[in-house]
Amino acid sequence: MAELTDTITFLGTAGARFVVIHQFLASGGAWLNLGNTQILFDPGPGCLVQVAKKKLDPMKLDAIILSHKHLDHSADVNIMIEAMTDGGTKKRGVVFAPADALNQDPVVLSYLRPYLERIQTLAAGASYTINDVSFTTPVRHRHPVETYGFVFQTPRHIFSWITDTRYFDDLPGYYRGDLLIINVVRLKPGAPLDHLSLPEARTIIEQVKPRTAILTHFGMTMWRAKPWELAQKLTEETGISVIAARDGMTFDMAQLG
Ligand SMILES: [Zn+2]
Repeated sequence: MAELTDTITFLGTAGARFVVIHQFLASGGAWLNLGNTQILFDPGPGCLVQVAKKKLDPMKLDAIILSHKHLDHSADVNIMIEAMTDGGTKKRGVVFAPADALNQDPVVLSYLRPYLERIQTLAAGASYTINDVSFTTPVRHRHPVETYGFVFQTPRHIFSWITDTRYFDDLPGYYRGDLLIINVVRLKPGAPLDHLSLPEARTIIEQVKPRTAILTHFGMTMWRAKPWELAQKLTEETGISVIAARDGMTFDMAQLG
C-alpha cells in the first residue's frame, strides 16, 4: 500500500473582488488531500473548471468546507455539491458552513441539501471530524459576515488556515501547526480593514512559528507587488520558510520534515 500523504492543491490564489472578477488569478479555493480524506475548501468562482483542469474527481470528495459565504469563497458550492453527489444520484458528503451561510440569505441551495449525508454548522471553539481528520474553528473572525479560520489535524500533520479577517490582538494565539496558510489580501494595513495585510501576516508568522507559511488569496495590491518576491523577503527577515501560493500549486506536507 502506498504511504499516505497530506497535500494541498491551490485551485486559485485570488482574493477579494477585483482580482476575482477579472480572473487575474483563479479563485477556485483549495483541494485538501489528507491521507484517504478529500476536502474541498472555499470553492470560489471557477472551482468546477479548475477541478476538471486538474483532473480531480469530485465524486471522491468527503466534504466541502466554507469559511464564510462571501462569493469569492462560496460561488461554486452548489455545483460542487452536485458533482460530489454524482448529480444528486448518490447521497454522500458533508458540507460544513457558518450558520449565516445556511440560514439568512443562504448560499447553499435548499433543493440540493437532501443530496448530502449531512450539513454541519460551524461555531467558535467547536471541533469536527471527517474520517481520521479532525479540525477546529477556534475563533470567530472579524469580517462582515460570519467567518472562521481552521486548525486541521491529520494522523501525520497539524496545520492552520487563517481565512479572511481583520487583525486582532490575540489572533495568532488561536492558530498552530507545522504549516500555516494565511489569506493576505492587502500589501499595506489601512482601510478597508476587513482583511489581513502583509505586515500583519508577518506578525502572525513570527508568533505562530510554523516550519512553513504559505501566503494566498491575493488582492490587487499584493498581486502587483509580486507575492513570490514578498515571500522571499519575509523568509529572509523571519528565518521561517514563506511561500507565495501559485494557481495550481500542490504543496506536499512531507516537505515539512
Ligand atoms: Zn470575505
